Amino acid sequence: MKKISILGSTGSIGTQTLDVVRKNRDKFEVVAISANSSINLLLEQIKEFKPRYVAVYNENSAKELKEMIPSDIKIEVLSGMEGLITISSLDEIDVLLTAIVGMIGLVPTLEAIKKGKTIALANKETLVTAGQLVMEEAKKRNVAILPVDSEHSAIFQCLNGESKKEIESIILTASGGPFRGKSKNDLINVTKNEALKHPNWSMGRKISIDSSTLMNKGLEVIEAKWLFDVNSDKIDVVVHPQSIIHSMVQFLDSSIIAQMGCPDMKLPIQYALTYPERILNDFERLDFSKLSSLTFEKPDLNTFPCLKLAYDSLNMGGTYSAVLNAANEVLVNEFLEDKIKFYDIPYYIEKTLDAHNSIEKPTLEEILYTDNWSREFVKKCIK
Ligand code: NAD
Ligand code: MG
Repeated sequence: MKKISILGSTGSIGTQTLDVVRKNRDKFEVVAISANSSINLLLEQIKEFKPRYVAVYNENSAKELKEMIPSDIKIEVLSGMEGLITISSLDEIDVLLTAIVGMIGLVPTLEAIKKGKTIALANKETLVTAGQLVMEEAKKRNVAILPVDSEHSAIFQCLNGESKKEIESIILTASGGPFRGKSKNDLINVTKNEALKHPNWSMGRKISIDSSTLMNKGLEVIEAKWLFDVNSDKIDVVVHPQSIIHSMVQFLDSSIIAQMGCPDMKLPIQYALTYPERILNDFERLDFSKLSSLTFEKPDLNTFPCLKLAYDSLNMGGTYSAVLNAANEVLVNEFLEDKIKFYDIPYYIEKTLDAHNSIEKPTLEEILYTDNWSREFVKKCIK
């Protein structure tokens, strides 16, 4: 029985994680769940999965939930950052599945690593913000960071039994998002509703906007650098609209290994939870006779400057990626509230990167300080 705690159980990844658990009740037990404020869904999840802890970040929502829980259900209701940290580092859990959105997942994840918990990581912002720190801490404590992001799960699977020294390049595939093939002119006035319509995946709002700007792929390049310890010049992005190949690794003998399947996030979630085993499921099987074609193209960095900005921040090193991530989190929120336009996102990220004085090999405190600086700076710029 693997005992799991979930950061962000009410979101797209969180609910799909519970789908996987629901089908494998003999293998997994959910010990703790959490969300920002979606207490109605949390209550349903509490009734179904009987976790021993629930953490609600929003204090008022936590109080409300406490009153809603029937008296015959035994559960501890926690709140705030303290609550998230507590459920991430419980003695009784084996795995922390982090499906929270944003760098707010960083501190709870670090605390889980310090307690030796295996990390199933969907929350890419954690590695973008503090990749070096997180991976060093994990190495020191011999903790596995198992990717849930589909591209990184693919690469992880391609590297099974391979030597990292023999990697020539990592090839991340990108669907291209809802605006693939458009020009800058076409996109100047796009609305959030157009940006939220992803062709292949149904995901949370933040990652959907990131997919429309290609920032999601940029964040994934940075995530891949830290997870697999490869330099950015060895990480390529190729647009593959069908999302059948989830990513590939090219080795120095010219061989390429790719991982494929129907696009379904439940597969990388399940693999991270059962690794190193694979278990039978009823997910859709890929039928090659029905696949008309797999196509590939170069990403258009002119129309999607966020991807280039992410590479730049990685190459500049230090705290630049933390700055990129924080500015992006603020700007995506503003775009979702109709306060800025589509191209304001890369415009203000670049301004913030330009204004930043980077810190080499930052401590956690320096990263948190930098994250806050970036948020404040970008908010001032918009005003
Ligand atoms: P989502 O918006 O659907 O869900 C986010 C979850 O985080 C919710 O449960 C929400 O309550 C919780 N949350 C947000 N702020 C919180 C806070 N302050 N305290 C506690 N909980 C909080 O997002 P998602 O699409 O599930 O994505 C989650 C993460 O997984 C992101 O980092 C995303 O980049 C990554 N990811 C998602 C997908 C996908 O298909 N959705 C694929 C790959 C990676
Ligand atoms: Mg991905």
